[in-house]
Amino acid sequence: MIMQGKQGLICGVANKRSIAHAIAKSLHREGAELAFTYQGDAVKKNVQEIADDLGSDLLFKCDVTKDDDIKKLFHDLKHYMHHIDFVVHSVAFADKEDLKKDFHRTSRHGFTLAHDISAYSLIAIANEAYPLMHLHGGAILTLSYYGAEKVIPGYNVMGVAKASLEASVRYLAADLGHRQVRVNAISAGPVNTLAARGISGFTKILDIIPEKAPLRRNVEVDEVGDAGLFLCSPWATGITGETLYVDCGYHVIGM
Ligand code: NAD
Repeated sequence: MIMQGKQGLICGVANKRSIAHAIAKSLHREGAELAFTYQGDAVKKNVQEIADDLGSDLLFKCDVTKDDDIKKLFHDLKHYMHHIDFVVHSVAFADKEDLKKDFHRTSRHGFTLAHDISAYSLIAIANEAYPLMHLHGGAILTLSYYGAEKVIPGYNVMGVAKASLEASVRYLAADLGHRQVRVNAISAGPVNTLAARGISGFTKILDIIPEKAPLRRNVEVDEVGDAGLFLCSPWATGITGETLYVDCGYHVIGM
């Protein structure tokens, strides 16, 4: 029960397949108290059920494209949790059209939207979260993918947004480290979620990993959950600015 007495916020649960759900389950199993955000009414019921299962009745609406939503989220959260120990940011979006066509045809709007939701939102959330981590510091965790550093067909503008996200992790870590606030990312292998299904060729990626990855299989979402728990926990107090691969080793293979 390494997380006994710890509390924090989970952003990015859409349903039971969400990576954020797996991380929340691992944190809950180790004793953490959780609050959840949901993007909008379409997913509210799912998130409510998941929060119930994990012993939480703290549910806040937050569309990360809206500064007011982010400000209100932390204002309201403070009312229930006077301090927080961790925030999980598991949020990304790109227009499906931009994931279908050639990368050089990415529109200005599509580029901006993907970066706003998938990268800038981490900065905006960190800026509101760190003042609530005033007691003993805390941990901020986000989710990235290998497409940040290598070209993955169909990942397109999302890969560029993930590169921005990973750089933001390092800059935030440098900024907030003096307050003992740690900022890290997990670069997860492919997991069959709602967001992943928007990527053309996703099933192909799932087929290639078991042929090439050192562990000869795809990662289980609960393995990403446990790695998320680790990075949010006191086991990882010496780690910040890091992108941790939880991908069955796929990233070490050259061809
Ligand atoms: P998911 O669809 O379950 O989660 C994505 C979440 O982003 C959803 O909860 C959605 O509501 C939220 N979101 C999108 N736009 C938002 C907005 N404007 N405001 C607030 N929330 C918004 O899919 P997932 O795969 O669990 O994705 C979680 C994270 O993991 C993402 O950052 C994704 O890029 C990353 N990731 C996924 C995989 C994979 O293969 N599934 C691999 C590596 C990294």
